[in-house]
Amino acid sequence: MQNILDLSLKELKEWMISNNENAFRAKQVFDWLYKGIWDFKDMKNINTGTIYKLNDYFYIGIPKLIEKYTSKDGTIKLLAAYKDGNIVECVVMKYQYGNSICVSTQVGCRMGCKFCASTIEGRIRDLTSGEILSQILLAESVIRERISNVVLMGSGEPMDNFHNVIKFIDLVTSSEGLNIGQRHITLSTCGIVPKIYELADMKYQITLAISLHAVDDVKRKEIMPIANKYTIKDLLDACNYYTKITNRRITFEYALVKDVNDSAEEAEKLSSLLKNILCHVNLIPINEIKEKVFKKSSLKSVDKFLTILKNNGIEATIRREMGSDINAACGQLRRSYIESQRYE
Ligand code: SAH
Repeated sequence: MQNILDLSLKELKEWMISNNENAFRAKQVFDWLYKGIWDFKDMKNINTGTIYKLNDYFYIGIPKLIEKYTSKDGTIKLLAAYKDGNIVECVVMKYQYGNSICVSTQVGCRMGCKFCASTIEGRIRDLTSGEILSQILLAESVIRERISNVVLMGSGEPMDNFHNVIKFIDLVTSSEGLNIGQRHITLSTCGIVPKIYELADMKYQITLAISLHAVDDVKRKEIMPIANKYTIKDLLDACNYYTKITNRRITFEYALVKDVNDSAEEAEKLSSLLKNILCHVNLIPINEIKEKVFKKSSLKSVDKFLTILKNNGIEATIRREMGSDINAACGQLRRSYIESQRYE
């Protein structure tokens, strides 16, 4: 059995034709799926014979909603389980200009960043394109509103699941699918350099976000194992290439950790590293997770860091903390759920 959400419209049309069905049925089925009808028999314009065949070949891989948490600021966090029991989380943030979702791309993660909850037990498995997409469909049905922005910033490293992530981007941007504009999609990576070049050459208009988090290789290696493989220089060269090919501005994420990477000298160094790059810096006061010793920078240090960047002509903002009262940081919710099950 195959998850029908993994198919593109073209693939479903081909399936229809090879099963002696009219190709236009594919679009009808797609429309139902994207409208939240997740049982073939409820697809009113599809006849019984076709439904029979569809049921024989496909299942509709919407994960089961396990928990829904709503934060005081309106952020909603969903915990959902796939058929095989693996659990992912996604976060819906409501902004004035529309709803934004943060999706997971893998169950767990193998990148090993020291401050991150997703990576604690490594990568369990990759998610397929349809499984990533299904997080959006599930969320839309829960909030009963459309989602207009997608950030690939949940659990997992998108560049470590490249093929599925690209197929996912094609599915969500398709005018016959969710029709979300490429510019409304952000892919965040810890910096797998060759994949940044590959993505650039595909010429998508998506925003690339880089988790930088340190200004020198020694410090970066201490907190992000990927830095043992690629230097900051390699990474920034790849970013410049991405901008050259796509004309897109890069977002740099910099999680501020008390006494680790939040000094004034580091703000100066970051400014000089980025001065010739078309970019925006997102400062993230780190979310403290109970498994790790890292502490959040003081408000004073965060402000000082921001002021230095701005004085040096670097565009920067502090990421609004959303949903921190509901464990909305990367991988935290899945972990607390798994732990609560363990101790039951
Ligand atoms: N693997 C990708 C995307 C998922 S992580 C990446 O590394 O970019 C999404 C963002 O959350 C990254 O910038 C990551 O470094 C950051 N992050 C992880 N744990 C965090 C924490 N405890 N507090 C703040 N940001 C965190």
